[in-house]
Amino acid sequence: MDTPTTPKRIHQLPTVLANQIAAGEVIERPASVVKELLENSLDAAANEIKIDIQKAGHLLIDITDNGCGIYVDDLPMTLQQHATSKISTVTDLSNINTLGFRGEAISSIASVAKLELSSRIAGQEHGWLIKGEDLTPQPVAIMPGTRIQVRDLFANIPARRKFLRTDNTEFFHIREIIRSLALSRPDISFHLRHNGANILQCTKSDTRERVRTILGKSFLDNAFELEYERNNLRLWGWFGSPAISRSQVDQQFFYLNRRIIRDKQVNHAIRMNTQDHFYTGKHPVYVLFLEMDNTAVDINVHPAKHEVRFRNARDVHDFILSSLKQLYDNFNAMSNPNTPTTTNIPLTNTSTQQHLPPQHNNQPTQTTLQAVDNIKHIYSQAKPTHTNLINQQQPSKRYATANNQFLLIEERYLIVQINSETLLADIVLCNQIIAYSGLKQELETSAIRRRPLLVPLTVNVTTEQTELCATKADAFKRLGLTLEQISNNSVLVREIPILLEYADISRLIKDLLTMLQSSASDTTIIRMMSKHTNDAGIGKITPETIGQIIESAQNADANYVAESKNKVWKKIDGATLKSLLKMR
Ligand code: ADP
Ligand code: MG
Repeated sequence: MDTPTTPKRIHQLPTVLANQIAAGEVIERPASVVKELLENSLDAAANEIKIDIQKAGHLLIDITDNGCGIYVDDLPMTLQQHATSKISTVTDLSNINTLGFRGEAISSIASVAKLELSSRIAGQEHGWLIKGEDLTPQPVAIMPGTRIQVRDLFANIPARRKFLRTDNTEFFHIREIIRSLALSRPDISFHLRHNGANILQCTKSDTRERVRTILGKSFLDNAFELEYERNNLRLWGWFGSPAISRSQVDQQFFYLNRRIIRDKQVNHAIRMNTQDHFYTGKHPVYVLFLEMDNTAVDINVHPAKHEVRFRNARDVHDFILSSLKQLYDNFNAMSNPNTPTTTNIPLTNTSTQQHLPPQHNNQPTQTTLQAVDNIKHIYSQAKPTHTNLINQQQPSKRYATANNQFLLIEERYLIVQINSETLLADIVLCNQIIAYSGLKQELETSAIRRRPLLVPLTVNVTTEQTELCATKADAFKRLGLTLEQISNNSVLVREIPILLEYADISRLIKDLLTMLQSSASDTTIIRMMSKHTNDAGIGKITPETIGQIIESAQNADANYVAESKNKVWKKIDGATLKSLLKMR
């Protein structure tokens, strides 16, 4: 990033320019103050930043950097709205290479807290301080750089305080901001203290070392390192394997030109690749850096600057999609030595037109009444043309929902069109069919595949059952469970079936004990096991994974589908649909 080493002068932006900037409230919680101040330190080319927090930032946020500093004459100006040293003209807006540019943060913070600002430029004998209402700079002893102390945040705004969460939560957000900035700038040392205790210490290093400090060695051990380049786009970083996937999207760091962003196109391109490799409801961990020319992106879109607008969104989407696809192909090729490796094959331009995300946000879960409204909308749009078919290659297995809107009712039922029939699909059963088919195949080949639990689980059982666990240890293993007896009435579960990741394992083991006691057949056992698929996972179904589930369920097991067709796919006739539409 192009950063100044001596300060530029601060000026107030002309109204015309100020009005063109995506304005908005930037300070909503202590973490937003920390983010704005840290971004200022980064823009000032600091390479050492100390952050001292008291009481989750309510009492004090104290940030000291060794950056370029601020001219004493400009100190009062920082408190004015739209006062910035980073842009001057409208054309600057199209080539922003600093994190800040709106000149709003310091003035906004000063309006909701007590602020002290001290700064010293290299070569000056001492620094200068402004505080409170008095804007006359006073001499102060300080090392070259800038220190900002923010006290009693929102103290005079009870309405704002009401929205703040517990200290733990607010501090968690502060820490997350620092972690995400620290990941993007390994060349800067960050030192975070909270209530006097050292919380995070990152010394200057390379990116790999910084990733290790922030995400841990286990992440690096379980991540694929990648680097792809095409035209003027470069994507590099680390992508966590499914083994370290998470049930939340809390460890996904995506940077555009070292600025953390959240972007629908980017997320979509990543999801298109991961949905085949990660279980429903499981999310990858990644640290990815996308680099491109600054003029190819507009960051003046969102007040908090984490949304951007790519000038050529489709290229970016395609590039990420094909890069990650190649990553997986290479990985699969390496895990299967019989397949030729594609490591050196250049990226091809994958057309992803049909995969681009819908313009509006889909809500995966809806109440039935809302759903009826949507049915009306969807049905009226879907019926005449059927143009929104996904999976064009297999006409015999077509399914469609209008405008790619998937409509999920009560987190379980889905209205779909398969060939020309309108059907109500039971997603819970679909998931069970998929699991059933997978378990059956694995058992027929050898044994059900297992994965170790990070923290082994203790299950309480009767003394009699403990003995059965011991005598049937091999049978359990064949069914994907590794058990160890730890007392007369408890067993330790070390491994579970990969396909039953969300199962309630205690219940599963108890059901299995009952079946093994009565010498049930393999088919009966795996049918029971597949019913555990949805113990916890069903709520995690997203609009993006629904299509995949329906598709897999249809392919999963012809016999099972035929047997339970009535339950899984319920045909909706015209009259039922009409009465649904009239329900309100
Ligand atoms: P912006 O960052 O959008 O320009 P701010 O309100 O955050 O607006 O800051 C106003 C100006 O104050 C900046 O443009 C910069 O010149 C100066 N400034 C703020 N913080 C620092 C810092 N830590 N070091 C040097 N200059 C700073
Ligand atoms: Mg700023």
